[in-house]
Amino acid sequence: MNTLYNTPRKTANHVKSMLITGPCSAESEDQMRETARQIQEASLPLSYFRAGIWKPRTRPGGFEGVGAPGLKWMQNIREEFGFKLCTEVATTAHVELALEAGIDLLWIGARSTANPFTVQEIAEALAGVKIPIFVKNPTNTDVALWAGAIERLSAKNIQNLGAIHRGFSNYKSTQYRNPPHWDLMVDFRELFPELPILIDPSHITGKREEIGKLLKLGSGMLYDGIMAETHCNPDKAWSDAAQQLLPKGLKTILDQLPNPEITLEEFPVEIQKLRALISELDGLLIANLSKRMEYSNQIGKLKQEKNIAIFQPDRWREIKAELSEKSKRFGLSYEFSLQIFKKIHEESIRCQSEVEINPEG
Ligand code: PEP
Ligand code: MN
Repeated sequence: MNTLYNTPRKTANHVKSMLITGPCSAESEDQMRETARQIQEASLPLSYFRAGIWKPRTRPGGFEGVGAPGLKWMQNIREEFGFKLCTEVATTAHVELALEAGIDLLWIGARSTANPFTVQEIAEALAGVKIPIFVKNPTNTDVALWAGAIERLSAKNIQNLGAIHRGFSNYKSTQYRNPPHWDLMVDFRELFPELPILIDPSHITGKREEIGKLLKLGSGMLYDGIMAETHCNPDKAWSDAAQQLLPKGLKTILDQLPNPEITLEEFPVEIQKLRALISELDGLLIANLSKRMEYSNQIGKLKQEKNIAIFQPDRWREIKAELSEKSKRFGLSYEFSLQIFKKIHEESIRCQSEVEINPEG
């Protein structure tokens, strides 16, 4: 694979440039076979074929996976295409069934990683296994919780460990389905410099159109591979339809990723890493500004209804006083913050003066 993910980190002794792909969920034997066929046809450098057999759905009522029969379909994929297999396990019963079926790699999903009791039970069920076990980051931004899951597995003599960065949940939608929090990745990497880490751009972006851009942006983090969802007919997928790619679409993206040697020589990887951190913060700034404007427009409506003047000098004085205190606390120059907030306040006033209220109520 001609990508940065191919570049072994100097200190690492790890799986190199792994590619895990396949559908979010096993839906039918035909869907699995057709996806596998397209992966083969696209000449993707596959390490493991993925399919979710048991699907952790945030709320009930969605497709919760086909369960144990899907394991048989996976075995048939191995027989027909020679692919190694991987799936998610979330309970000790899943572990038993998956091991019995000879699945070659297992991963613990983000919702399970967030619960130490679950991780402990899975670790006990897996004790001593030789196959690779990968741990997705927890849904919440807690490095210690993620590290704790790795430690629980390691304490059960599971040595072939890895991690998957799939982003972190967010209350309101932002640019990403699960924002990457690159800063957290930097800290996690420091805790486990030898651990192979894959990036899962499908769950981070939530949108297939964004996957190529995200992989380029994250290239400074020097991942050891990629887990991405592919489906033979993405729009018709029973779960995560918007983020699944056709296998040939993933191939195009991988072929366009930067060449590690050229990139590393010409452009220090540290700069790429810092740029990724900055880009994420820029996205948050814009998302927060847009939320601020929404609240301000609501105030605008109320002012109109109650016939209150839009510009309120006392409120502007209050904003400035808060700004001075906040700037000091975070080590920013007050003059700089003031310039930015003058612009923001001006824009709020402008929008509030344009707010229309419906005369019918
Ligand atoms: C998945 O990979 O399909 C999945 C459910 O992942 P996560 O645990 O990251 O949500
Ligand atoms: Mn999925």
